[in-house]
Amino acid sequence: MATDPACIFCKIVRKEINAQEVLRDEHVVAFRDLNPQAPTHILVVPTEHAAHLSDFTQTAEDVRAARLLAAASELGRRFGTNGYRVVINEGPDAGQSVHHLHAHVLAGRHLAWPPG
Ligand code: AMP
Repeated sequence: MATDPACIFCKIVRKEINAQEVLRDEHVVAFRDLNPQAPTHILVVPTEHAAHLSDFTQTAEDVRAARLLAAASELGRRFGTNGYRVVINEGPDAGQSVHHLHAHVLAGRHLAWPPG
């Protein structure tokens, strides 16, 4: 499995640092964000390291992308009683700060649109 020794989310996948996990399977790990922006703020990450969504260019990687989205939807339905939002930030303009692909699942309050 591709992993980056220095990556903080790879360390969570490998259980080298603690996180409040809510879901784990072969393809994804989901855990609560350290700095929540909503009553429910969960990050879903692929277990294999990929920095960006744009790294999923091969058809063989489609299952990983699909599982990431399906897990986000599953958690949105589990924790969001009145809807939820899934966000993926990529690159400097979107403010990506951790370079291991992750989907934010936000729920539990009204979420304004458009985002900032
Ligand atoms: P982004 O700005 O889209 O790259 O989001 C990175 C997110 O990771 C931020 O919301 C951080 O609060 C969150 N984060 C960083 N380190 C950790 C950690 N060790 N455990 C949980 N969430 C983290």
